[in-house]
Amino acid sequence: MSQITPLRAAGARRHFDETFVIVGAGQAGVQAASTLRERGFRGRLVVLGDEQRLPYMRPPLSKKFLSAEQSEDRLYFRPQSYFESQAIEMRPGVRVEEIDRNRARLRLAGGDFLYYDKLLLATGSRPRVLPVPGATRSGVHYLRTVDDALRLRNELTAGCRLSVVGAGYLGLEVAATAASAGIKVTLLEIDDRILSRVTTPGLSDFMAGVHRSRGVDLRCRSKVVAFSGAGRLESVLCEGGAIEADVAVVGIGAVPNDQLAREAGLTCDDGVSVDERGRTSDPNIYAAGDCTRHENALFARRVRLESVQNAIDQATVAAVCMSGGDLAYRRVPWFWSHQYEFKLQSAGLFDGYDEIVERGDRREGRFALLYRKAGQLIAVDAVNMPAAYLSARRELALRGEITFDAETTSAPPKVRLNTRSGSEAAPSTLDWPEMTSQSIAG
Ligand SMILES: Cc1cc2nc3c(=O)[nH]c(=O)nc-3n(C[C@H](O)[C@H](O)[C@H](O)COP(=O)(O)OP(=O)(O)OC[C@H]3O[C@@H](n4cnc5c(N)ncnc54)[C@H](O)[C@@H]3O)c2cc1C
Repeated sequence: MSQITPLRAAGARRHFDETFVIVGAGQAGVQAASTLRERGFRGRLVVLGDEQRLPYMRPPLSKKFLSAEQSEDRLYFRPQSYFESQAIEMRPGVRVEEIDRNRARLRLAGGDFLYYDKLLLATGSRPRVLPVPGATRSGVHYLRTVDDALRLRNELTAGCRLSVVGAGYLGLEVAATAASAGIKVTLLEIDDRILSRVTTPGLSDFMAGVHRSRGVDLRCRSKVVAFSGAGRLESVLCEGGAIEADVAVVGIGAVPNDQLAREAGLTCDDGVSVDERGRTSDPNIYAAGDCTRHENALFARRVRLESVQNAIDQATVAAVCMSGGDLAYRRVPWFWSHQYEFKLQSAGLFDGYDEIVERGDRREGRFALLYRKAGQLIAVDAVNMPAAYLSARRELALRGEITFDAETTSAPPKVRLNTRSGSEAAPSTLDWPEMTSQSIAG
């Protein structure tokens, strides 16, 4: 991976008398707070989150936490004692209602105000609601939070019939988790193939075969028009007929939480618009993570990404720039998924490819698809082939990716992402498959 550090963080001020506020206590919010302290920011640092919990990781919610193989305490990034030791005012259960840019203050639910010198919006995204009758009926689930996952887990009991609406990564992971537990799963996809928004037919066909071989009743070109039942859910109505179901999960994408920014008059475009340094159209307000649309300089286009990588990397960049440094976001997007015994790893942006080279052997369940455009690698999808993935990842980094190290962030990279029983514990490589190549993770 090339290491280009043209924009040094050196010379950062300490900001003793300033207040930085982060709205959103999720992946990006906690990363930004940690990075600010690691960089030596000495002012007041407040993180406001509208969930009642300390910040936690969401990926296990559709995987090992849903199957109850992972306990709740292993979801949390940091214990309360960490935030106290870093003088980070972590305030769960506090919703921000309004940004008053003229007075540089926030109005909190309940009526209190909080003044800021610099603000970071890390408000994430929320599930897209299916606009059909019965979409909020009891038994119909959306999956974003620990509470959502606990509610769903409680209803996925032996003998129940589950319909999953939407065959993107989230829907497929829920289907895999449920089918592995012996639950009868019907998977409904409006398109003519699964994963159509995120990959090419080669991977879609392979994963469709995997799900069918595990007993999932996969129905493409199935448009859900209503959820019906006398009280709770009894059936999912599609254009082609009804499917009996006790539980349904809707996974049809996410919507950025950009309403605070929009109401405050910040430029938004299906997400808070930010530049390479995480800056919004207000010089004192930054944004990072799922809630943003940003410029990806490596691929020369504006994108909105929903991934752990993007949340961590954008938050790091924003924290460096907020605290007086200068760093541009030049990272290759990457993502992973687990379904059954298959580990899927993707990097880059595949659209616009004119050639696919396949490595490995899909009959053995181990292959990689390399996407090229005009002879240059632009993306990779790998299934149970981490070596091919990492080698493609290195090639993609040659486009000019920066690494985050002591020099760019002006502090040793100490961020660890999981803590158990108060003691620092390394994150599981199963949950965080790229940890070995991510210097930020330490
Ligand atoms: C079930 C599931 C599985 C996933 N699996 C993967 C995976 O395998 N790999 C991967 O890379 N990514 C995965 N993701 C995506 C990844 O978790 C997100 O991209 C990441 O959490 C984004 O981080 P964020 O900080 O931008 O948003 P979040 O982590 O969502 O944090 C935003 C927080 O801000 C809060 N908030 C919003 N508005 C306000 C307000 N006005 N006041 C106060 N607080 C507010 C929200 O309630 C939330 O707690 C998954 C997501 C889900 C839901």
